[in-house]
Amino acid sequence: MIMSTETSSQDGTPAAPLSATARTRVRRLPERARTGRDDLYAVLDATFICHLGVVHDGAPRVLPTAYGRQGETLYLHGSSANRTMLAADGGPVCVTVTHLDGLVCARSVFHHSMNYRSAMVYGTGRMVTDPGERLEALRVITENMIPGRWDATRAPSRKELAATSVLAVPLAEASVKIRTGPPGDEPEDYALDVWAGVVPTALECGPPERDPLLTDGIEVPEHIHQFKLRMAGR
Ligand SMILES: Cc1cc2nc3c(=O)[nH]c(=O)nc-3n(C[C@H](O)[C@H](O)[C@H](O)COP(=O)(O)OP(=O)(O)OC[C@H]3O[C@@H](n4cnc5c(N)ncnc54)[C@H](O)[C@@H]3O)c2cc1C
Repeated sequence: MIMSTETSSQDGTPAAPLSATARTRVRRLPERARTGRDDLYAVLDATFICHLGVVHDGAPRVLPTAYGRQGETLYLHGSSANRTMLAADGGPVCVTVTHLDGLVCARSVFHHSMNYRSAMVYGTGRMVTDPGERLEALRVITENMIPGRWDATRAPSRKELAATSVLAVPLAEASVKIRTGPPGDEPEDYALDVWAGVVPTALECGPPERDPLLTDGIEVPEHIHQFKLRMAGR
């Protein structure tokens, strides 16, 4: 698990605290809110799957998708025909990122909970059209998933780039909420004969599975080994 410091952003400059807005102020259990911008970066940089929420034809729609962060921008990508991405362009979006760290088993049903780190980002989506920014965004998304993968693979062709949309979401308005620790039971329930505690959870990688069509003699590259180690530490 990556915990926060209050010292640095991705580019090494001091990170300003998250300023709560009317919609990002955590009202329910506010003691779980974190206000350091580095808390936000730590949650975002520790995984690569988010949920993009948009309003499409007057109804909410939430899309699970990959992302990467560069500085104060989240980049998401999809097919150029992706309707959620199109709906997000110029419209209000909400992006959430969630890490499940444990199942919290209390003595009462009511006090069961989860240990987690999560972030919610509100903003306006911007379809990236500048070719240089698009390519860089795709590199950022790829590298956020598997560092070292971009340089190890064939670059996207013109046709592939044309078939891909890239959405930018600013990190101007965001909140972070984190729960850690054991269950919080009612005082009288601690005497109950019921097991209580936390079952830790984590995303796990299995051994890499070779593509059956892989050319003989190509071994698992170092960045794939490193990815497994990185996932284990997330
Ligand atoms: C893995 C996981 C499982 C959860 N399971 C449950 C559950 O079963 N039932 C339940 O009631 N709650 C659950 N929560 C907590 C839930 O996400 C909300 O924080 C909580 O329900 C309060 O919602 P609210 O709308 O009243 O929050 P409010 O405090 O009114 O929200 C105000 C603002 O606080 C911020 N905020 C709220 N929640 C979060 C968050 N999780 N992460 C980042 N920012 C946040 C947002 O900016 C939001 O607009 C879970 C959270 C996680 C990560």
